[in-house]
Amino acid sequence: MGRIIQGKCVDISSEGKGVVKIGKDIIFCDGLFPNEVADIEILYQRAGVSFGKVKKLYEISKDRIQPRCKICTSCGGCQYQQIKYEKQLEFKTNRVRNALKRIAHIDTEVKPCIGAKHPYNYRNKIQVPFAKDRKGRVVYGFYKENSHEIIPTKECAIEDKRAAPILWDIKELIKEFDIPVYNEDSGRGILRYVLIRTSYHYPELMVVLVTTTMNFPGQRNFINALIKKHPEITTIVENVNSRHTNVILGNKEKVLYGPGFIKDTICDLVFEISASSFFQINPEQVEILYKTALNLIDFNKKEVVLDAYSGVGTIGLIASKNAKKVISVEIVKDAHKNAIENAKRNNVNNIEFYCDDASKFISNYDGDLDIVIMDPPRKGSDERFLSTLINKRVKKIIYISCDPETLARDIEYLSTHYVVTYVQPVDLFSMTAHVETVVCLQQITK
Ligand code: SAH
Repeated sequence: MGRIIQGKCVDISSEGKGVVKIGKDIIFCDGLFPNEVADIEILYQRAGVSFGKVKKLYEISKDRIQPRCKICTSCGGCQYQQIKYEKQLEFKTNRVRNALKRIAHIDTEVKPCIGAKHPYNYRNKIQVPFAKDRKGRVVYGFYKENSHEIIPTKECAIEDKRAAPILWDIKELIKEFDIPVYNEDSGRGILRYVLIRTSYHYPELMVVLVTTTMNFPGQRNFINALIKKHPEITTIVENVNSRHTNVILGNKEKVLYGPGFIKDTICDLVFEISASSFFQINPEQVEILYKTALNLIDFNKKEVVLDAYSGVGTIGLIASKNAKKVISVEIVKDAHKNAIENAKRNNVNNIEFYCDDASKFISNYDGDLDIVIMDPPRKGSDERFLSTLINKRVKKIIYISCDPETLARDIEYLSTHYVVTYVQPVDLFSMTAHVETVVCLQQITK
């Protein structure tokens, strides 16, 4: 057991941990919220900062609630399940405001984070590892934070409710058909992960079996039994990942049942989603996110819009209805292919898709660009991309970000030539510390 220290929480960190200051020392504590006093067990230290967990609570926040999920204090997925939803939103708004102040050095209005109507059971993508426990029983669930120990979990409070009964029956069928589950230490076994993707607007559901080799023994019978138990499954894909890494999906894939993809709609357009393509995980809130972003553009069918980091083409395709032309760039091949299919499916002709690194693409692009919509991954964009925006004198940038800190870093870079005119956080990840933000940057005309 680690050292125990008593302290008062004075703030919440960007990762959703309680911040405790004792003299010059800083402790980040899971599951501790502002104004609470607790005994904290120190678990480890990194770069001069201690990390701990609550051992005993003495003073309790008035915003604390009973979490729905029994493992929420050990899984690490939901930093905020123990706190009222309104308070979660306040933390997120503050996180964005603080990042802009601290990193971009701007003190601009940040609108209150837009909350979700349904803050539980929203996730349309669920992925769980399978393994055997010490007693040799098949288990699945979530990894204990910072470890590879599986905490067996029957259901998760934020995932689509359709996933839990399917995962349970997959476990039962694994036992019945004697399918060897993967052992991380020895590298032996076949089934590693199960991934489920659900459609919000269609009665469609995909199961992905991540295995170490193609065509495992008993596969056909296993699949047939699974479909019989769960006719709501519309497609099953096998994905082979034989590498000994933390990445869940490998490159080889085989469709075992159905079309190999599911469909869903966002803002009235239909999208095809395959096992590996990126698709926003909160189907209700994503519409609010995209509408918030696209409302910042006064479209009159004359604009050439770049949709950078475009995934399966969602934002660009929605924008294309009102723009003259959209140019869409995405680095992942499968997502790029899905995007082309999605344009056909929705009869959109004024969009061009490029499979390339966004920075390389934009610095080589010599056509007109009126507006840039950018939605990079958590690590944000890079100097090559941002400096090209400045050099090309793009008038308006709509930056959609899933990480306020890298967003602030990129805004700071742009701030010599752009002014922030609008900041709106949107909650796509209730119960967690994550937040999406829409920012409008307007070129400063000198
Ligand atoms: N706009 C999409 C996807 C956003 S996620 C949506 O809302 O669904 C970020 C996307 O950026 C991912 O699809 C990822 O594959 C892509 N990406 C990551 N690095 C990239 C790069 N250097 N150039 C282009 N795309 C990149």
